[in-house]
Amino acid sequence: MIDALVIGGGAYGCDIAAELKSIGFERVVLAEREVCLFGRASYANQARIHNGYHYPRSITTAERSRINFERFVQDYPEAVLSRMVKLYAIAKDSRISAHQFAVFCERIGAPYHAAPPRFENLFDPALIDAVFVTAELAFDATVLARHMQERLRQLKVDVRLGTEARIVGGDSAGASYELNGQRGRARWLFNCTYSDIGRIGIGIETRIKRELAELALVRPPSALDGLGITVLDGPFFSLMPFPALGMYSLSHVRYTPHQASLDPTERLAPVIANASYMLRDTARFVPSMSSCRYETSLFEIKATIARNEDDDGRPILFERNKEHPRIFSILGAKIDNIYDTRAYLRSLHWSD
Ligand SMILES: Cc1cc2nc3c(=O)[nH]c(=O)nc-3n(C[C@H](O)[C@H](O)[C@H](O)COP(=O)(O)OP(=O)(O)OC[C@H]3O[C@@H](n4cnc5c(N)ncnc54)[C@H](O)[C@@H]3O)c2cc1C
Repeated sequence: MIDALVIGGGAYGCDIAAELKSIGFERVVLAEREVCLFGRASYANQARIHNGYHYPRSITTAERSRINFERFVQDYPEAVLSRMVKLYAIAKDSRISAHQFAVFCERIGAPYHAAPPRFENLFDPALIDAVFVTAELAFDATVLARHMQERLRQLKVDVRLGTEARIVGGDSAGASYELNGQRGRARWLFNCTYSDIGRIGIGIETRIKRELAELALVRPPSALDGLGITVLDGPFFSLMPFPALGMYSLSHVRYTPHQASLDPTERLAPVIANASYMLRDTARFVPSMSSCRYETSLFEIKATIARNEDDDGRPILFERNKEHPRIFSILGAKIDNIYDTRAYLRSLHWSD
């Protein structure tokens, strides 16, 4: 019997496996279905190290991001793209005004100032009310993955790549599982499979919304070199550096989501890319984007807690199975919020 099985080698599963070792678990196995760590959502995302700005409608998520941002930037300097300028532009028909955005930044203590004319002039003044320079950065997921692989090696976590896990059941002494069809037992089991969280053998109580999302990978014109741009608050877009490929990712509130489902068994499959719509709409606000070069699209399933649909909040879900209390399902959220799972693990008693 092993001490713990962690299923899922994304940012959350890796960090949880490492943390379990640090708090004294001896035999920890990490099972990942893909052939590498960080092969799914922890790679195919907008690489934003959240600092709160993105969540004017969820103060709790904004404040957690503010708290974890500094720590993440200090802990992973090699994965952080620090030479970038992040602009937040407030659209004329935004759900929040420029004044409200400024008050929100003050409230969460996030630095901001009015953008100088060279940045302001990038936007169409007929559509944009105000532009702010903020302190938001991007991370390189491939560097983070390498860092995590080395940390797991040093801590002697048994990492099994190309290994499909399935939860069979649980009892008062532990949990039963299958790894590529082979039965095993663990004293504790951690399901960190994100968009597969309700699909690997046992259900979870919390309703999860799965949404097939498209990110367009693009090469913007040189006038936008080193810039990230988010237009708030409504059916607008975000352009962020994507350091892992030396490109930029473009997401659009209207065109990034393709298909969504609350049914964990429903298959969400990539369809025709919406990138051309994203680019066309973006160029209305930032005219130089009309000469942006489209490379390809990344498709990934985003998983969020259904009840947070309206407030846009992105809390981490920690669900301990009521019937089998040695099984935990943990739905990851923002990458720089991994620290909150460490605090959670340390708050529990791991007696036999
Ligand atoms: C389009 C998009 C944009 C985003 N933008 C940002 C952003 O800018 N900044 C940010 O901080 N966050 C962002 N996020 C959210 C962030 O990417 C996720 O919250 C985070 O990556 C979740 O990490 P994870 O480890 O829980 O999930 P994952 O990285 O998906 O890891 C789960 C792992 O479980 C594995 N797995 C699944 N089933 C099994 C099984 N049966 N057996 C073995 N392994 C299995 C999968 O292969 C996968 O590797 C974005 C997400 C999406 C989809």
